[in-house]
Amino acid sequence: MYNNRRPSYGGQNRNNQSNGFRKFNGPNSNSQQRNNFRNPRRKRSFGVNLATHLFIKKAEPITKIEEVIVKNSFEDFGFDRALLKNVKDKGYIKPTKIQDEAIPEVMIGRDVLGIANTGTGKTAAFALPIIDQIIKNPNKRFIILAPTRELAQQIKDEIRSFTFDLRVYVTLVIGGSNMQSQIRDLRRDPHIIVGTPGRIKDLGNRRIIDFSRMDVLVLDEVDRMLDMGFINDIRWIVNLIPNNRQTLFFSATMDRKVESLIDTFLYDPAKITIESQKTSDNVEQDVVMVNRHNKGDVLIDILNKEEVKKVLVFGATQRIVDKISNNLIDTGFRADSLHGGKAQNKRQRILKMFKDNHIDVLIATDVAARGLDVADISHVINYDKPNNYEDYIHRIGRTGRANSKGYALTFVENKY
Ligand code: AMP
Repeated sequence: MYNNRRPSYGGQNRNNQSNGFRKFNGPNSNSQQRNNFRNPRRKRSFGVNLATHLFIKKAEPITKIEEVIVKNSFEDFGFDRALLKNVKDKGYIKPTKIQDEAIPEVMIGRDVLGIANTGTGKTAAFALPIIDQIIKNPNKRFIILAPTRELAQQIKDEIRSFTFDLRVYVTLVIGGSNMQSQIRDLRRDPHIIVGTPGRIKDLGNRRIIDFSRMDVLVLDEVDRMLDMGFINDIRWIVNLIPNNRQTLFFSATMDRKVESLIDTFLYDPAKITIESQKTSDNVEQDVVMVNRHNKGDVLIDILNKEEVKKVLVFGATQRIVDKISNNLIDTGFRADSLHGGKAQNKRQRILKMFKDNHIDVLIATDVAARGLDVADISHVINYDKPNNYEDYIHRIGRTGRANSKGYALTFVENKY
């Protein structure tokens, strides 16, 4: 990894400790970086209830993901030809499983309940039929709710990537960004509004968004929206959208809270479950034994390894991720942090720098990293354990994308 002020021990470590990550056990001899991370008052530990064996798994041979069998080709869905061309130009050769099953149902106007994770192609599963409907009837209006600003932005970007040469307008309505420019965009009456529930409700309250005109409602990552406390905002919004709407409801998990919404929000939905493998098959997972005092050093040692190219590091709190980031920058790494405490335009800038390879290490909290789609992350490092297994699966799904092998390392703290 690029490190313009690589500390002398970094190079040594790469040579001395080249045979496996689990070697990082004892404290490192160099004290400079270690002290930056050392904080005797920090006794909190995260994800303590998750058994260590959950974090260890060999990657499956990569050919396995090619074997998914689907019934339809994109031509079978009856899409407008210009849209079909944009799909092909984007390089999509055949539908993913969720697209194969959901698109025909969405196209006949049926409600859909999709149990599927990010990474399955679910964005295009709702985006393509929506764009097709707009081409065929430009008076139709659509609203898409997502839990985080980043996910909303990603959905908007994915939609835009299919609308080349088409008169389809989409706008983003998220917190932390300039509201006046969003109001200006909304006054131009876009076909599709994508956003987070809080800001959308806010602009609904000011009568800038007219929910009574919405024909289709998409609720993406409902489980996460509930976790984030958006339930009242969502109910408020959904109540204002006409009952004869079409509703597309996606959630990675199904628990009682999510289930309780299905009957009120959906009418006779087509239920589509995409078996989520417990973990991404092409992600090699391992643990790294650390102790409270040497975590920072161990992280630097790993980052200095040749094969560690582009890394997403997860920390438990905003304070921790900022601290890790500052320490890595001081050490000479091209690093930055991403968390909910940063202004939205700053978050977007940092994310873009990571995507464009101007940053090699991004340190993030779960909330900021949800739904991130960055193609070439070589390693995910759980500096702090996730709070639950779902979050773990989600975190490690950021690597090993697009048929490449990824690595996930989870720091497990020795008590001694
Ligand atoms: P999503 O689950 O919507 O976040 O999509 C995950 C990734 O898969 C994104 O990078 C998409 O651009 C990509 N993707 C979605 N559908 C297809 C497809 N049919 N063929 C190839 N890539 C796809």
